[in-house]
Order: sequence, then C-alpha cells, then structure tokens
Amino acid sequence: MILNEVMKFVESEYVIINNTPCEICGGEYITESLGLTFNNGHASNVTTCVCENCGNEREFLFRAPFVSQTDPESQTSKEELN
Ligand SMILES: [Zn+2]
Repeated sequence: MILNEVMKFVESEYVIINNTPCEICGGEYITESLGLTFNNGHASNVTTCVCENCGNEREFLFRAPFVSQTDPESQTSKEELN
C-alpha cells in the first residue's frame, strides 16, 4: 500500500464526515475511532463518529478503491526502501 494514497483516502473521509450533519440535531460529528480493516482482500474503513452536540453515534463505512484489486502477496513486494 502506498502511504500517499492512504493519506488521501483518510483525508477524503474527513471531508465526508465533516459535511455530514447529525441526523437528530444537525450537529457536527467528531471522529472517535478510525479502523482500516481487510475482508477477503477488500479494504474497508469503519470510522465511528459521535455528535458533539447530542452524543448520537454513527458509523461511517468507507471502501478503499485503490487496494480492492490487490492481493496481500503483491502488497509486500511493493515495499522497496531503496
Ligand atoms: Zn446530534
């Protein structure tokens, strides 16, 4: 996995979260936990957010498109330091 792409991916998540108002009170969500998980070679990211106003919890599910076609073995071969 290329770090730059991961950063872009996480960045775009925050944009989406910041632009999503709480469905109960219209407040802003605060990111509580960030987790990148892999299921059958598909990367997905479940981000738990809490409304800063009323405490309403919401989970945002993101899928990382840039790793969806990649199998685990080819990912390690990309890590060349020199
Ligand atoms: Zn709220």
